[in-house]
Amino acid sequence: MSLAQETIITPKWIMTLEGDELLTGHSVIIGKDKIIDILPNEDALKKYPSCEHIELPMQMLMPGLVNCHGHSAMNLFKGLADDLPLMTWLEQHIWPAEAQWVNEEFVADGTKLAISEMLLSGTTCFSDMYFFPEVVSEVAAAMNMRAICYGPILDFPTPYGSGPDEYFTKILAAHDTFKHHSLIDIGFGPHAPYTVGDESLKKVRMLSDQLNMPIQIHLHETEFEVSDAVENTGKRPCLRLDELGFWGPDVQAVHVTQLNTQDKDILSKKGVHVIHCPESNLKLASGFCPAFELQSAGINVALGTDGAASNNDLDMISEMHTTALLGKAVSKNAAALPALDVVKMATINGAIALGKEDQIGSIKVGKQADLISIDFSDISCAPMYDPISHLVYSASRHQVDHVWVAGHLQVKNKALCHVNPVQLMEMAQQWADKISSKQ
Ligand SMILES: [Zn+2]
Repeated sequence: MSLAQETIITPKWIMTLEGDELLTGHSVIIGKDKIIDILPNEDALKKYPSCEHIELPMQMLMPGLVNCHGHSAMNLFKGLADDLPLMTWLEQHIWPAEAQWVNEEFVADGTKLAISEMLLSGTTCFSDMYFFPEVVSEVAAAMNMRAICYGPILDFPTPYGSGPDEYFTKILAAHDTFKHHSLIDIGFGPHAPYTVGDESLKKVRMLSDQLNMPIQIHLHETEFEVSDAVENTGKRPCLRLDELGFWGPDVQAVHVTQLNTQDKDILSKKGVHVIHCPESNLKLASGFCPAFELQSAGINVALGTDGAASNNDLDMISEMHTTALLGKAVSKNAAALPALDVVKMATINGAIALGKEDQIGSIKVGKQADLISIDFSDISCAPMYDPISHLVYSASRHQVDHVWVAGHLQVKNKALCHVNPVQLMEMAQQWADKISSKQ
């Protein structure tokens, strides 16, 4: 970490996402945790003569990626059970493994592994829905990572507690612990309409209104979820939650692969954000989220990787690639979801979904210095016409070469600054050895 008061970053291109154009010949100046200036290179050197100066001659500087949905600790289950339908995967593999293994130590180690992977691939803010959100928050805070941790609400016992009462108590305690932390927020994560009853959902809405805490829920992940609900209650889950007064602009609905006109109207009128996780949906054959149609209806759509057990990576660059391709296929329109729109989904739209657009999601003076650079000096990106096209259609996460979170340098020249990767991988393998010996 630099001792200088300010850092000048001089890349080849700057994608601010404040307008649609790319800046060249400009530098971004970081002071403490914020972006304090953006100006032509000669002026930057004159105005800040004694600064640390980082030159990135073949790189594009852009806002850090915002991963709006995941279950970080599940990184330790990466590759444990693949090639299975959602309910078989959940009921016969993931839930039993969680019942056996998930505790505070598991969550701490899995989260550390996940944050390391996210940083190396350019994510500077993630949202997490998992057990022990207080542990996820502690690990994120210790690693200087920005996180919104949604404590889980389900109607049955889990390794986190005996039921809704205990979950609410623990989540509120975590909220109290972190309410003044600059990088961490705590929210409610009611798992899904099929695992949470009306009383708990109404309580989430009431507490969220009182305490201004965000909400994230899985919604309409599969066709079965919707048909089963219609059979049992006569209502689609989206409508049931609307009648409970659950929806609002502080809610993110994750997946939404099943959508009729009424669902779309509800989500649009209530200002609900949709978190699109295309790779998880593809791998679990859950269905296709009509992301372009949702955006065209004025709904904010952001991106998430989902947990590593259903993806199996936390790579937002490949998620952008998949989003663009799938969006064209689903809408039968090659002009749907162009590269720049997809980059916005992975950055500023994510910031909007998480209620953080005044802090992150674009490069603007006064915003937090959550920045990444992409190295385009790679055969995969030659020749160069348009760096935004290359970012979405040609580049890979291995081209992320610098990452700052709140002005702290986290990745330098493609290596983690504060994590020993050998120790990290040894720790992960110890868990895998233990888990596979009991399978
Ligand atoms: Zn999920």
